[in-house]
Amino acid sequence: MTGTLVGAVEAGGTKFRCAVVSSDLKIVDSRYVLTTDPDTTLATVAEFFGRSKPVAALGIASFGPVDLDPGSPGYGSITDTPKPGWSGAPILGRLSEALSVPAGIQTDVEAAAVAEQALGPPMARRLAYVTVGTGIGAAIAVDGLPWRGRHHSELGHIPVRRVAGDDYPGRCPFHGDCLEGMACGPAIAERWGIDPTDAGGRDDIWQLEASYLAQLVRVLAYSFAPDRVVFGGGVGARPGLAEMIRAATRTELGGYADYSTGDDAFVIAPALGNDSGLLGAALLARSL
Ligand code: ZN
Repeated sequence: MTGTLVGAVEAGGTKFRCAVVSSDLKIVDSRYVLTTDPDTTLATVAEFFGRSKPVAALGIASFGPVDLDPGSPGYGSITDTPKPGWSGAPILGRLSEALSVPAGIQTDVEAAAVAEQALGPPMARRLAYVTVGTGIGAAIAVDGLPWRGRHHSELGHIPVRRVAGDDYPGRCPFHGDCLEGMACGPAIAERWGIDPTDAGGRDDIWQLEASYLAQLVRVLAYSFAPDRVVFGGGVGARPGLAEMIRAATRTELGGYADYSTGDDAFVIAPALGNDSGLLGAALLARSL
């Protein structure tokens, strides 16, 4: 589809980011749509594309959980979510019908992983992307495609070993003190009584955070042996945090199968900044 435009949507819990993207991945038109109820939100997204330049295909990078099984009747729909009104919302079906173009869907974290793998620094055929914000999610991209099992990964909910002296109970509604329960943005805010965005210079906060996130890097390293682990999201992309996680990872691996040692590019911040998910959606559209 050289020379043609594609549509990209990053569907988030608080806003949808919509863009018309050129074949060389330049954003030529974009708009934010607030996430309200599914009917209003999806109609407003469709309206944006209706008024903008015509696109040849649409890629969607969606918040989860989302049904990604093409054989399932609910393909492309949000599955069970605590977000009011959104359980069963047919994001893919509604938008592909409204735009009458081929459309595809991935999770937002998968799309970000694919974009960072394909467009970020070279020498990373196998890349793990972790987002840390209101929740924690992770995905693996291999040679431009997301690695996926029967369902997208839920690596934010791995069990973690409690750091000595930390008596915070955790806030995951399903597991309490899983990684997300202990280390997502709201957990930091609740544990320390400070908004993470105001916690600059608080090394105690970020060292503890890095200790928990390094346990996920250990799981990723020993499960998938990626070339690189990228930390994004409102909390995860915080300047300096990647270096702290890298140091904590060395402690976590204990010298066993530690191919990250001496490799400053093993744990890094996103090369694409806040655009990883949106550009991943554009890459998906371009592949249709
Ligand atoms: Zn959990």
